[in-house]
Amino acid sequence: MSVIRTDVAIVGAGMAGAALAALLAAQGLDVLLCDAGEPQAALPRVPTAIADVDSRVSAINMASRGVLDEAGAWSALPDAVRCAYQAMRVWEEDGTGRIGFDAADIGASALGFIVENRWITAALLRVLATQPRVQLRGRETLVSLRLPEEPGRPVQLQFASGLAVQAALAVGADGAQSSVRSLCGIEAPSRDTGQSAIVATIRTSGSHAHTAWQRFLQSGPLALLPLAALPGGHAASIVWSADAPVAERLLALDDTAFLQALTRASESCCGEVLEITPRLAFPLRQLHAASYTAPGVALVGDAAHVIHPLAGQGINLGFADVRVLAEEIARARGRGEPLASPDALARFARRRRGENASMLAAMQGFQRLFGDTHPAVRLVRNFGLGAVDRLAPLKRAFMREAMGFRQTPTLQR
Ligand SMILES: Cc1cc2nc3c(=O)[nH]c(=O)nc-3n(C[C@H](O)[C@H](O)[C@H](O)COP(=O)(O)OP(=O)(O)OC[C@H]3O[C@@H](n4cnc5c(N)ncnc54)[C@H](O)[C@@H]3O)c2cc1C
Repeated sequence: MSVIRTDVAIVGAGMAGAALAALLAAQGLDVLLCDAGEPQAALPRVPTAIADVDSRVSAINMASRGVLDEAGAWSALPDAVRCAYQAMRVWEEDGTGRIGFDAADIGASALGFIVENRWITAALLRVLATQPRVQLRGRETLVSLRLPEEPGRPVQLQFASGLAVQAALAVGADGAQSSVRSLCGIEAPSRDTGQSAIVATIRTSGSHAHTAWQRFLQSGPLALLPLAALPGGHAASIVWSADAPVAERLLALDDTAFLQALTRASESCCGEVLEITPRLAFPLRQLHAASYTAPGVALVGDAAHVIHPLAGQGINLGFADVRVLAEEIARARGRGEPLASPDALARFARRRRGENASMLAAMQGFQRLFGDTHPAVRLVRNFGLGAVDRLAPLKRAFMREAMGFRQTPTLQR
């Protein structure tokens, strides 16, 4: 049986894996990118109705936009599929607490962009198709992985098709159920948030005003994320996270009753909700891998951490992992070290773990804080949101963090 030898084997051609392949190919490395599914490089149709918009979208912060730019994919996204949001409005069901963020307050033109996940992946895969050093293979499911017995030896990967691969570095970008992670014996403690997220695309009677709206209901947060205007009117994507029994009741409603519930729950922030695509639901778990590395192996994106979508940070953290791993590989090579040197992998893990852990903890805290009906907690919540809203420097710091501009620590060289 033939064996493919490569510098880097990436398992998983989702947003994180495809972005990493593009950054590493630009460094002149040979990359093999494998996915169990059938990766689609053809760009989807530019939407003309809400039915054309996939309900899996991401709020891409400015740091992630930079990664996509560096990967050569940002310019492949037409304006009609990347909707800038210039403001955020966050308020709660139960009280007077509210807070607003405006890009103009920090001299920025936007806080981020709402983009369909499949557009991001397709734009990245199109870049990869022009890279002679990248081999993309679909329908390749990883089934076994052998770690090197000594430093400098390759990682050996085996796929269900019989494909055998030897790589100086293997990367797990294979999502929440990562096979790379489990085959390396890395534990991944996970927590059921008790909530499910309902996603769909909606048409509304009023404009979203290029604002990301989020209302904290007692049963969980409801987000309305702006999409580019369609010929039929204003469009937005919803992520309605709710305690599982509430989510089940919402899913059981017919479309008319759901539209009414949604208009009420959003306090008509974008006017009346007039139309909706079929609703999809995702159970929400948080997960954090006990380690991001094994000898010759690194984990990025959801393979390393899965976070509640309430702050729209999942793939933003994933793109930050990708950027830092690419930087550490470049640094190792610049010093004449092997690209999977234990030092390079340790630096990658140190630079990413803290930021990801604090974001995971913050999401858990938010969920508790806004789900609590105790009067004292409600008072603190109302006071806290109002106080932060009035403190311009603190607000600016929050905004820079949400845009991905917290300095990921650079370690001593
Ligand atoms: C409702 C919801 C809303 C969200 N909103 C946002 C948001 O606004 N902003 C944001 O930043 N994040 C958001 N997220 C999170 C974001 O969607 C994820 O973080 C992101 O999709 C993870 O990308 P990934 O490339 O790491 O993994 P995945 O997208 O899971 O890709 C993994 C790939 O690996 C492949 N694979 C799996 N196993 C194998 C195997 N054994 N062999 C070969 N291939 C394999 C799969 O086929 C897949 O293509 C949201 C998540 C949810 C659920």
